[in-house]
Amino acid sequence: MLYDAHNHYQDTRLDSDRTIILQSLPELGVLEAVVNGSAEDDWEDVARLARDNAWLRPSFGLHPWYVKERTSGWQELLRTYLMAFPNAAVGEIGLDRWITDPDIEAQTACFRWQLMLATELDRPATIHCLRAWGLLDEQLRNLPLPERGFLLHSYGGPAEMIPGFVQMGAYFSLSPYFGHVRKAQQLATFAAVPLDRLLAETDAPDMWPPDELNEHPLQHEGKPINHPANLQVSYDLLAQVRGIPRDDLITQIGENYRRLFQASCVVKR
Ligand SMILES: [Zn+2]
Repeated sequence: MLYDAHNHYQDTRLDSDRTIILQSLPELGVLEAVVNGSAEDDWEDVARLARDNAWLRPSFGLHPWYVKERTSGWQELLRTYLMAFPNAAVGEIGLDRWITDPDIEAQTACFRWQLMLATELDRPATIHCLRAWGLLDEQLRNLPLPERGFLLHSYGGPAEMIPGFVQMGAYFSLSPYFGHVRKAQQLATFAAVPLDRLLAETDAPDMWPPDELNEHPLQHEGKPINHPANLQVSYDLLAQVRGIPRDDLITQIGENYRRLFQASCVVKR
């Protein structure tokens, strides 16, 4: 009964393994997963996965890394996909000053427009943020926000900002990557997240766990990638940092997931 709140199963690095992986995940207890598009050129891939697999929830958005590649028709196309999939979320959207030469003004404009679209259509939004926490906070405080809330995926901000984000409707998801020793401090911030705002994710094929926790090692062209079955690592890490039994955590995350992503959405089962 596991939920993967954020991933990119459409990523071409998974092409040769995707069919087998998608067959295996429900058997491993994955009940639902949110597949996030990142740019105009992968939205159709996300749509196809969602059409073929009822347990996959599509999400469409322009990621800050791909803002420079957008065409003049991106907004119309995004709206078209969201209207075609009433159960779709908006994402992955966000703000990122970590990448080389970030066009933060264009990023901010795209982020604002997409968040307002999520609010208008009553969809949850999934937000990526790297080295832009102050800017994100300022934007969120000055925009109409989705009533059902939004997800700060792979939350890497300070613990002190969590209560403010919670007040605005944030949920926080943890990826298997937080199992690396160098991420111990970030893992510890999840102790400050209210239980009813916790979620688990893989961000697959990115954010793989350290070798000692990785029961599903996977590679693409000689480089490690994250196997979606590593979702269980995220659950284990959260159970550990919260000091609660895994079964209780599974129940809690299921409730949180359905509150954020299913709410009034049409869900085909
Ligand atoms: Zn992502």
